[in-house]
Amino acid sequence: MSSRVFGHIDGYREGHLFADRRELSAAGVHRPNQAGISGSGKDGADSIVLSGGYEDDTDDGDIVIYTGHGGRDQNTGQQVSDQLLTRGNQALAISCLEGYPVRVIRGSRLPSQFRPAFGYRYDGLYRVEHFWREQGRSGFTVWRFRLVKIEKTFSSGGSNVKDDSLTQAARVETMIQRIIRDTALGRQVKQMYEYHCQICEIRLEGAPGPYAEAAHIKPVGTPHNGPDILGNLLCLCPNHHVLLDYGGIAFDDDFTVLGGPGILSVRDDHPVRQEFVRYHRVHWWKGI
Ligand SMILES: [Zn+2]
Repeated sequence: MSSRVFGHIDGYREGHLFADRRELSAAGVHRPNQAGISGSGKDGADSIVLSGGYEDDTDDGDIVIYTGHGGRDQNTGQQVSDQLLTRGNQALAISCLEGYPVRVIRGSRLPSQFRPAFGYRYDGLYRVEHFWREQGRSGFTVWRFRLVKIEKTFSSGGSNVKDDSLTQAARVETMIQRIIRDTALGRQVKQMYEYHCQICEIRLEGAPGPYAEAAHIKPVGTPHNGPDILGNLLCLCPNHHVLLDYGGIAFDDDFTVLGGPGILSVRDDHPVRQEFVRYHRVHWWKGI
């Protein structure tokens, strides 16, 4: 199998139009002729085609909520069983964890103001910000992915940037976003616990002082729209922050740590809200 290319494909700038899937495949911009996700559970996903397969998908241009594949009847297109975090879905999840850029292609049948007038259009690089499970309109589980454009506007000559630096750009942006979110409330929750992780109690101390991360239980931003309030924030070490974000741990209603040690340590003056804990468990916990 030829090696998978992450990032722009030489010779194809953002905005390039393709007549059909065959042309798109021959160019290497999106290899599979039918599948919406190009990738494997081992390598990650390098491209997706948005063509309106799922009614739950939303397209706001720079932010796309994309539903994974699987569990649909081939003839009717109806969801008839749960989607699994395997194949293309797992590929997108790996791209999220590794920070790989994903090429996004829009098809003319997409029910969105951003669709091309005909054929397929390469719309540049997105990163998978996060992913979660939810109950689709059919009642079956679907996996959803929040994709955010790396270069915010259609640039005129952005395609000659090297793939490596684009991957790095995605990482830098992720870091900047974390820093911006580290608001006064974030500092407050860290100070409440004197920078001890609420799960493992570790306190990391660097040369300038202690380090911990303020973690939202229900993510802020669409479509979750978790609030930036103390009741939705935890003071965690980086390891437990990552495990929380990717469903490696969750909390029971009594704050028992699922997938981890003991019970979440919660101070009396820290009103952690069970609705956020439940929301997280339902959408992320790997044990469901
Ligand atoms: Zn910890």
